[in-house]
Amino acid sequence: MSKTPISSLGEFGLIRHLTDRLPKIQPSTMYGVGDDAAVMRHGDRCTLVTTDLLLEGVHFNLEYVPLRHLGYKAVAVNVSDICAMNAVPTQITIGLGVSSRFGVEDLEEFYAGVRAACEHYHVDLVGGDTCASVNGLTIAITCIGEAEEKDIVYRNGAKVNDLICVTGNLGAAYLGLQLLERELRTFRATQHGNLAQVQTDDSIHEKFEGREYLLERQLRPEARMDIVETLRKAGIKPTAMMDISDGLSSELFHICTQSKVGCDIYEDKLPVDYQSAALADEMNLNVVTCALNGGEDYELLFTCDIHDYEKLVPIDDIYIIGHITEGNALRLIPRTGEPFPLTAQGWNAFEK
Ligand SMILES: [Mg+2]
Repeated sequence: MSKTPISSLGEFGLIRHLTDRLPKIQPSTMYGVGDDAAVMRHGDRCTLVTTDLLLEGVHFNLEYVPLRHLGYKAVAVNVSDICAMNAVPTQITIGLGVSSRFGVEDLEEFYAGVRAACEHYHVDLVGGDTCASVNGLTIAITCIGEAEEKDIVYRNGAKVNDLICVTGNLGAAYLGLQLLERELRTFRATQHGNLAQVQTDDSIHEKFEGREYLLERQLRPEARMDIVETLRKAGIKPTAMMDISDGLSSELFHICTQSKVGCDIYEDKLPVDYQSAALADEMNLNVVTCALNGGEDYELLFTCDIHDYEKLVPIDDIYIIGHITEGNALRLIPRTGEPFPLTAQGWNAFEK
């Protein structure tokens, strides 16, 4: 009997297919599969849990990713999912599968990054498991967080006329990846050794000069814990929120489908860094496509009530890019010409 290929369902279809009719046995289980993190209630406090798997050869290439940065990023991307629920991260656990190719010094490097991230985000590493693997490095991190029930923000709360906001800028991590991949090809053709070591040796390849920001965004992204705090201080509670890991279009699709609304996004409002625009131009890539579909920015995408407009405007690093509409159409309004439908071409784990 031939088997159904997983790619025929896609990552999110597969998750739905496997978890569709899971029973909810525990009364403390408030929200299970389908958001950035699961939510459990204990009195009026809630615990949040999220988990992520990072596989060598799928999510990272150790030919140009330094282990220390990888450790930092592995923690940051999990913290980001807790932030996306408007909650505070508190603990992490780490599961590692390690092949014999790695030595103690390698794992010390990885843990130096993990430790730096734990300090930065004020989370404790409280457990995990380490195991020998047949090939490569496998990293599974679980992050636990806390919030009051009334503060938690899901993906399904966006309402018609809500403002759509993003933090920071978009596309830089994707362009950083394109740059690293391009330099790796050159490096393989001309030299021996490891590009990751060249980077940490201070003798940064001159090709990377003036593009450090793009590398940082790809190799060592930050979770926007600062924004969660800023919004709280400003008295703004988003109506829906998620972090941008698979690309803006894909995340808008999740918020709009789960909230049963549509959206209009304005091309000229999409925040893009100068280094992103310059590299996109050099590599003949459309910078708007990079901003819409490039993943791994780990910025926050959120919607909020239009009455919060005055409170939003003075805040640094938050950009209003559009608004929620009736119906279910996701549209991009270009600088000139007719609106066109946004398609979620974000990164799909089972296609490639
Ligand atoms: Mg997420």
